[in-house]
Amino acid sequence: MKNEELIKKLTLEEKANLMSGKDFWQTRDYLRHGIPSIFLSDGPHGLRKQGEANDNLGLNKSIPATCFPTAATMANSWDVKLGKELGVKLGQEAIAEKVNIVLGPGMNIKRSPLCGRNFEYFSEDPYLAGKMAASYIQGIQENGVGSCIKHFACNSQEENRMSTDSVVDERALREIYLTGFEIAVKEGHPKAIMSAYNLINEKYCNENKHLLVDILRKDWNYQGLVVTDWGACNSMVDGIKCYSSLEMPGEKDGKFEIIEAVKNGTLDEKILDENVDILLNTVFETEKAFQGDVKKEFDVEDHHAFARRAASESAVLLKNDGVLPLKDEKVALIGDFIFTPRYQGAGSSIVNPTKLDTIEDEAKNSSLNITSMVKGFNRYGKEDKKLLDEALNSANESDVAVIFLGLDEVTEAEGLDRESMHLQDNQIELVNEIKKTGKKVVVVLSCGSSVELPFADDVDAILYTCLNGQAGAGATLDLLSGKSNPSGKLSETFAKEFKDNPTSSYVPSHNRTLEYREGIYVGYRYYETKGVEVRYPFGHGLSYTTFEYSDLKIDDSGVTFKLKNTGSIFGKEVVQLYVSKKDSKIYRPRRELKGFVKVALEAGEEKEVRIDFDDKTFRYFDIDSNRFEVEGGTYTIEVASSSIDIRLVGELEVKGTKEDIKDRREELPAYYSCDVATVSDEQFKALLGRDIPDGSLPLTIKGKKKRIKVDYNTTVAELRYANGWTGRFFARVIRAVCKIFLKVGNKGLANTIEMSVVHLPMRGLNKMSGGAVRWKMLDGLMMMFDGHFHKGLGRLIKSLSETSKRDKLFSEEDMKRDIQLLSEDQLTDSEKKYKKKHSK
Ligand code: BGC
Repeated sequence: MKNEELIKKLTLEEKANLMSGKDFWQTRDYLRHGIPSIFLSDGPHGLRKQGEANDNLGLNKSIPATCFPTAATMANSWDVKLGKELGVKLGQEAIAEKVNIVLGPGMNIKRSPLCGRNFEYFSEDPYLAGKMAASYIQGIQENGVGSCIKHFACNSQEENRMSTDSVVDERALREIYLTGFEIAVKEGHPKAIMSAYNLINEKYCNENKHLLVDILRKDWNYQGLVVTDWGACNSMVDGIKCYSSLEMPGEKDGKFEIIEAVKNGTLDEKILDENVDILLNTVFETEKAFQGDVKKEFDVEDHHAFARRAASESAVLLKNDGVLPLKDEKVALIGDFIFTPRYQGAGSSIVNPTKLDTIEDEAKNSSLNITSMVKGFNRYGKEDKKLLDEALNSANESDVAVIFLGLDEVTEAEGLDRESMHLQDNQIELVNEIKKTGKKVVVVLSCGSSVELPFADDVDAILYTCLNGQAGAGATLDLLSGKSNPSGKLSETFAKEFKDNPTSSYVPSHNRTLEYREGIYVGYRYYETKGVEVRYPFGHGLSYTTFEYSDLKIDDSGVTFKLKNTGSIFGKEVVQLYVSKKDSKIYRPRRELKGFVKVALEAGEEKEVRIDFDDKTFRYFDIDSNRFEVEGGTYTIEVASSSIDIRLVGELEVKGTKEDIKDRREELPAYYSCDVATVSDEQFKALLGRDIPDGSLPLTIKGKKKRIKVDYNTTVAELRYANGWTGRFFARVIRAVCKIFLKVGNKGLANTIEMSVVHLPMRGLNKMSGGAVRWKMLDGLMMMFDGHFHKGLGRLIKSLSETSKRDKLFSEEDMKRDIQLLSEDQLTDSEKKYKKKHSK
């Protein structure tokens, strides 16, 4: 332990107290021991440092910061150098705002297109997600502050996010859901990792020994801090036993749990000390960033300019029949998003931008021959004939109609999943009507996750700008006019319809379990193996120039080939390396991404390109040996422009690490044939190697009524089945409030209540209330909800005095020690008062 001497000086109470935050964003300080507190702030794509009013939902405004393109957008750049640059700038802003740890990047796998937070995540592929995350971390940490990757792990649905159990087989867990984190940990060395809200295979992530100890600490040799997601702590003591050393946000009860556990022998004080040591390392290391000559400001203009370049590098040209780039044609710009851009998602990642460019304003600086700009539709879907007519007139007066479509801000939000992959009907109608004018139609798409594009075959071009940050508007116009050449490629497949997605019959789950029945077949791994035609495949993206691939050479350590820009303008190509094996004993996807590089080429230029293999290239997770192995034999090596546009193919003989690989074809036929969209119970059970946990609510029938026993993990929504009228009443009131807000058109607020209260488990009332609802009070409340009104009320009332007595004692001891060890000017006001009172 690095801080052994210091830890010896700390009392049990002090050590226990350090294990949870002092407030919403800071760790606890002990100035009498020279321990400062550090600040944590959200920041996947820009800092969200809050001043006065704190919340983890993005409700209260934060200090202005650059809103860079979201992770979903940046992943489309496939450019790790760009990711690192973004990280560096994010780190500079953290330094300027005195933030020690940036809570990002988010890097969960996009399992389903409907997950409400997909805009915050990189990809459906772990290799791409891991490499992008590592680049962010390296950049952020170059400044001395820490990056906190999140949400570890299998946090792929927002509904009931604090209480769902992700039921996933070990192979899928390791190959798909953890490989990205592994790359980020081993290559990025983040100072912190955030444990996710959910359970994995019946254990809360924050107290999941398999995840946090066996894999993270032992297999990956991670030395940094594990911090809970805000309110993700279920049991303080169990978390500490798994080396999760910081519970956030601060609450007032955790320390008592720890003290009691040490005293009664259920928690070894040595383990507590090790946790304190990890926390102190993070505190002292990240505090170094603020020593000496620290820049208190960042270059707002430079960061804005970078945000624009990053947006430009990340846009994906999905389709182009030659209409783009636009030259002298008369252009009508149509769409609500021209005036109020969609450039980030909602929730804890929301950034208060330093400035915000719009298409409307940036159009003045563009070379496009713009004849009109009209709203065209209402972004929340309300039909408006006047807007439609205006759009048709404006299209009629132009040669090309550029229509800005997308999802609205309440559809893509933390805490909620999308209900479908549809764009609003009025947007589809608009495209169809404008198409009838006979004009060329270009669609620009703003959304952070894939959507169905039923008009794709009928329009002339589609540019997917994703959610491209505060400076995205200028970048978009540059791409349309040809001032820049698109070079992004999809980090997520665009299916034709949601029902084509392998998870479509498993998500969203309204139960307590979320079954990952499709196993390893996520995204393109499914579509290509099963042969499902998609709208736009993973890795797809066009350019205004063309590229030719030749001369593939494969050796034991990688591939080399030539890439030529065969067009007449400068361009960049994202080259992808896929690996597969035909005669395999294990079931495998048709191909898997194992490397990529973005290459810049002048017109006519040719370069030799090299992509090295690494330890992930040929490995698979073997459930019998419980580790990654390599199957010996012949592998197909593909160099590709997208996951279906394979340009060069070769083979390589690879030596295996295991002889007796088990062929499980008979036991798991669905996985060998990739029929995973509806897997039978029998096969899922065989895949898991255990019984499928029952995800249904533990309801009992009383008379004709369904009832539930209220426990710490019963959600507010589930209280509708509570035994006590108070519980049912509480659930009803919350629902009614949501409905009222929906009725009066405040969908945003209704959603916020839905995400922050409706899906909140009972323990969340304690964890998220900053000490207002204490454990003992919660016990009383739960009794009342459970039908024991008087007993519960009694407990509640008793708990108030008990808790306040205990707090008083604790804080008195604390104050006394401060008074003994600190100088007068270091004391807080209450400590000064206490000193004065007791020195009389
Ligand atoms: C989110 C985290 C975020 C935290 C603090 C949670 O609700 O899941 O991503 O970092 O709040 O705002």
